[in-house]
Amino acid sequence: MSKFFSSKYINVEPYVPGEQPQDRSYIKLNTNELPFPPSPLAQKLARIEAGNLNIYSDPNCNILRKTAADCYGISEDEIMFGNGSDEILNYIVMAYCDSETGLVVPNVTYSFYKSLAVLNQIEYREIPVGKDLTIDPADYYNVNGTVMIANPNAPTGIALTLKQIEGIVMNNPDNIVVIDEAYVDFGGETAMGLINKYENILVTRTMSKVNGLAGGRLGFVVGPKELISDLNALRNSTNPYNINRMTMMAAVGALTDREYMTNCINRIMKTREETVKSLKRLGFETTDSSSNFLFVRHPKYNGRKLYQDLKDRGILIRHFETELLREYNRITIGSDEDMKTVVATIRELLEEQQ
Ligand SMILES: *Cc1c(COP(=O)(O)O)cnc(C)c1O
Repeated sequence: MSKFFSSKYINVEPYVPGEQPQDRSYIKLNTNELPFPPSPLAQKLARIEAGNLNIYSDPNCNILRKTAADCYGISEDEIMFGNGSDEILNYIVMAYCDSETGLVVPNVTYSFYKSLAVLNQIEYREIPVGKDLTIDPADYYNVNGTVMIANPNAPTGIALTLKQIEGIVMNNPDNIVVIDEAYVDFGGETAMGLINKYENILVTRTMSKVNGLAGGRLGFVVGPKELISDLNALRNSTNPYNINRMTMMAAVGALTDREYMTNCINRIMKTREETVKSLKRLGFETTDSSSNFLFVRHPKYNGRKLYQDLKDRGILIRHFETELLREYNRITIGSDEDMKTVVATIRELLEEQQ
């Protein structure tokens, strides 16, 4: 840190992204990317758009806005796009949190929320999850702060029902409730329908996971138009051209090609169920995942060791070295073939241990 760095940021806790090592080729199951390329239409539209990169992108994303509004049955003033949903989450924290009424989150969640809280110097309150890592919705009723819940949760993959989410929204009339639906397409219930009924809900989505556009960086937030207008004020004060032309057209293509998306989701869900069965046979416990990853532990295999042993064999999974999670590992659902390799490798490792 230089001596010039503002004292207000001395304590920042930057997010630690999953490794993207270049030393050898890995089966990469550590950052929940889609194992398939983006839709051919998304690729084609992005490629064509490359020729227009000399002109600024549309700060209002009108073409994409119309496509997404049609796709999700919302109106065009109920959505805003971000350079990944991470950017949007920052605007939400800037807009609705302060030093006394900050973020209220489960103590097992997406660790980026904490980075945002520290950056913005707001209060950060963690509510413990149950022993089985589940969230009790009633713990979030009438809290004094902005509720931020990933649904399905990360890194557990466990989903709350729409009814449970509505309970939280309904019982926080004076607070904003943010539902981060990064993984909802893999088996959760969306809360988007609640934006017509409540003035205090925001739903964030990302095209990084389900649409295979992690490298394109595109997220969006859906909510009542008054809230979207707050967020646009902050976005236009920070980075008005936040969506680049190629990504915007890739997103238009991805949302238009619904069949491709449905097909990817079905393949991942099928592979997920098969992988769960295989891992259970090997003695693993898994949470009930509604996402494109599994959260697993083995009674006789230390979490950190499993992570390292797999890495040595060219398979990357995600390990979290925190007290609550260190016995677990998060494994992204890759292609069928990748998952067969993972299961076979783990079987060998278990045999070697005996
Ligand atoms: C991946 C992820 C995001 C961020 O997605 P980007 O759009 O790539 O920034 C947000 N929330 C959760 C829970 C995620 O897992």
